[in-house]
Formats: sequence, C-alpha cells, structure tokens
Amino acid sequence: MDYAATTPVAPEVLEAMAPYMTEHFGNPSSIHSFGREAKQTLEKARETIATLLEARPEEIVFTSGGSESSNLAIKGCAEAYSRKGRHIITTSVEHHASLDAVKHLSKNGFEATYLPVDRDGLVDLNALKNALRDDTILVSVIHANNEVGTIQPVKEIVEIAHEKGALVHVDSVQVVGSLPVSVRDLDIDLMSMSAHKFYGPKGMGGLYVKRGVRILPLIHGGPHEKKLRAGTQNVAGAVGMAKALELAVERMGDEVPRLTGLRDKMIEEITSRIDHVRLNGHRIKRLPNNVNVSVEYVEGEAMLLNLDLKGIAVSSGSACSSGSLEPSHVLMAMGIPYEIAHGSLRFTLGRSTTEADVEYVVSSLADIVAKLREMSPLYPSGPCKCKD
Ligand SMILES: *Cc1c(COP(=O)(O)O)cnc(C)c1O
Repeated sequence: MDYAATTPVAPEVLEAMAPYMTEHFGNPSSIHSFGREAKQTLEKARETIATLLEARPEEIVFTSGGSESSNLAIKGCAEAYSRKGRHIITTSVEHHASLDAVKHLSKNGFEATYLPVDRDGLVDLNALKNALRDDTILVSVIHANNEVGTIQPVKEIVEIAHEKGALVHVDSVQVVGSLPVSVRDLDIDLMSMSAHKFYGPKGMGGLYVKRGVRILPLIHGGPHEKKLRAGTQNVAGAVGMAKALELAVERMGDEVPRLTGLRDKMIEEITSRIDHVRLNGHRIKRLPNNVNVSVEYVEGEAMLLNLDLKGIAVSSGSACSSGSLEPSHVLMAMGIPYEIAHGSLRFTLGRSTTEADVEYVVSSLADIVAKLREMSPLYPSGPCKCKD
C-alpha cells in the first residue's frame, strides 16, 4: 500500500539488466568494441524511452533519479537564463526535490512565487496568470502530487506560461509509467522521471529537455549526456528503465482501469465504514492508485504503526515528512486544518494489489481506528463512560 514510495524491479526488467552488469560491462565512452557495444545499448534504451514519451532520443538526459532530474531542470534552467530574468514560479504542493531546489535559488539571487492550490490540490490558474512577469524564466509544477494524487491541468499551465515566454518544467515522476504521457502533446520544456516509481531500478532516472531549451549541468567532468551530466552512464540502469517503461506502457490499458476500480472501491469502503473520514485530493483528477484520507480524532502515525503490525505498509503525510511532527506541506497548502492533517494516511496501490488486499486493509483500518478512538478523549461518540 506504499507504491508511490517505490516499487519492486519487475522480473523482466532484472532479466534485461543483468547481462549489462556482467558480460557486457563496457564503458560507453570507450572507443574499443566493448565500449561501442555499451554505447549502442545505452542509445537504444534512450530511443525506447523517447519513443514511448513521444520525444526525440537526443532530448532524454539520463540521471540518478527524480530528485536529480528536478534539480537539473530547475537550477540548470535558472543558471542558463539568469540574464533573461531571475523570477521562478512554482506551487505550494511540490515534491521536496523541486521545493528545495527553488528555495536554494531564492537564497542565491532568484525570486520565487509559490502558487496557491484549492481544497482539492489544484493549482489556481488565475494566480499563475497574475504571477507571470517579463522576467519569469521558469514555471515548475508537479504533474501529479505524490501525496494526494491530484493531477494538474498541465496543458493549460503550459499555454499560459508560454504566452508570457516562460519555460515549463513538470515533475512527472508519479505519472510516467502510470498514465500515458506525450511531451509533444503537453508541449512541456522539461520533464522529470524516475525508474523506481515504475518497476525499474532505484538510482536511475531521466530528464526530458526539449530541443532548443538550454540548461547548464550540475555535474561537470566530461562529454557524457551531451555535457549535461558528467559521469560514466549507468548502462544496466538505462536498459532497466527502458524495459520498465515499455512494460508499464504495454500494460497501462489494463492496469489503469483495474487500479482505478480498486481505488474507488477502497475510497467507497473507507468512507462508508468509518465515520469522520474525508478524502484528500481531487475525487476524479487523481492518480489511479492513490487513496489519501484524513481520519479525525486519530493520529496518522498511530494508525501507520498499527497497520504495520498487521503487515500493511502505508505513509502518513509523505515519506520524507513522517518522522518529523510537522504535518505535510501539501495538506497545509490545501487548507486542511492542522489537527485533521495529523490524522492523514496515504495508501498507494500497485501491480500486485488485489481486491482481497483492499478488503483486508479496509477492515484492518476500521478495527484500528475504532480501537484508537476508544482511547481518544476527543472522539465525540466514544464510549464516554465518564458521562454517566
Ligand atoms: C519519488 C518522487 C521524486 C524523487 O524521485 P527519486 O528518484 O526518488 O529521487 C520526485 N518527485 C515526485 C513527485 C516523486 O514522487
């Protein structure tokens, strides 16, 4: 129930990768035949990924994952266009990789505007129109939120930004491999993706950089990746990422409706079997595998630990913010009251999730919530033995 955090490597992916860690271990920068073979393999993986996203192969830069891709997009673009302007627009519901990259820039001579979102987590397009200025170089938006699953109107955002001459970076880490994505159709300029979110290996990702868009590298040191990311490429990782995306796209036609059905069943069951529960995120414009709820009068961490004892892995808030007592910045930006945000849980379904799993999770959650509420002095319809 935590597939938004990560996924296992698919058996077919592991099988495709293995030879490139053993027999075919050449360095793609070497001139000899072992190197040339590795280079060919790397470029074939790039081509596969590009084709599946309707990009050109030369528009894909391999990175170490989503965090690096977003850092490269945001900082690399800011540095390249700093003479044109120093204003960046982003949203208040970004992943920390983007948020912290923008924060870093705003401490170093750039100015940032954080767009508000509505109760469902959707970006306010009017706020975007009003925020755009002549010196705005970049609009960076999370495509679908990793915590609440809300999918942003990327096409509209791109149209509005382009009209004002600003570039658009999209953090599509939760979307690539989950839903069909065409960079051509969306007309975005930069797009982050990460293999371990779609049954590929960890530490492997990519950044789409539209032809003609300039960025400067974060890592210097050689001609690799068209000088945008120095270092010997992860050939096996690239092969794995390409295979994983291929499988994901192949299965999407069946998997999207299957997951959507399980998701909707789970939302329906949780909200009908447990009182004082609300769904977070947009009901329809939502990732097919995301269920995020706030359960009033109960702590998220307490539910998480009790679920864990039953063998169920979930997130409270986001993986990065659990462990701290601060409620998630995403839920706060959506205007969810502090105490209610504290009782939030994220369930994210995956390839192996069955209807029986959903039933087990819902009944376990119902039991746990009932037990915890019995101990809660705040729960209004509790046993209240004290009153008589
Ligand atoms: C997981 C995730 C990232 C970070 O990707 P890594 O490959 O783990 O660095 C960035 N953005 C979103 C939306 C994510 O879900």
